[in-house]
Amino acid sequence: MKSLKRFILVGAPASGKGTQSSFLSTTYDLKPLSTGALLRAEVAAGSPLGLEAKKYMDAAMFVPDEVVNGIVAQWLINNKESGCLLDGYPRTVAQAQTLDAELSKLGLAVDIVVYLNVSAELIEARMLRRKACPKCGETTRNGEELCPKCGAPMIVRTDDNPEAFAKRRKDYETLTLPVVDHYRAQGKVVQIDVTEEGEPEAVSARIAAAIEEYVKA
Ligand code: AMP
Repeated sequence: MKSLKRFILVGAPASGKGTQSSFLSTTYDLKPLSTGALLRAEVAAGSPLGLEAKKYMDAAMFVPDEVVNGIVAQWLINNKESGCLLDGYPRTVAQAQTLDAELSKLGLAVDIVVYLNVSAELIEARMLRRKACPKCGETTRNGEELCPKCGAPMIVRTDDNPEAFAKRRKDYETLTLPVVDHYRAQGKVVQIDVTEEGEPEAVSARIAAAIEEYVKA
């Protein structure tokens, strides 16, 4: 039986990753790290890191590897005793190689990659209704004014306009999907195909079932 402590969640922008990240963290007792939410919080706080990251995020570009890799490596050191869930990282094969090397220095490795494969049509429809909380990172899909988690005013992400979204989608396909192949070659990928809009809980249940199979295999 495999022990699962280090998770990666991969999915296109607006694939429902945030919701499933909450589900996975609660169910498998994982500390979540969303690099996107962390960077947005830095931007909101106006920190030097936030000011640097904002230039890239507003242009729908990836923040440079050395910035993101450094943040994640330090976070992994601080949290090495806990189970963890990485959401939004690694976003390129180079980041995946760095992650593997950083974990290996700690005597650890990625245990499982949950790949949410959501159809392009669904993603486009969702993107138009999406808002994010600048304070706690929660995202919603129904245009809520206030964050259902912490009550802060919700914002439309500056990178959620159609042009920026198209760029992020393309980057996801060309740069991030190869990360799935990287871990598939290591036999660590659990893939969940989503083609119809439905309750997030139904997707969570399918993820849990697929993980159960993976653990037994
Ligand atoms: P997300 O919330 O995951 O969609 O991330 C929002 C934005 O943060 C991205 O469009 C990038 O500009 C930046 N970002 C988040 N994670 C990464 C990463 N692993 N590598 C580079 N940039 C990132």
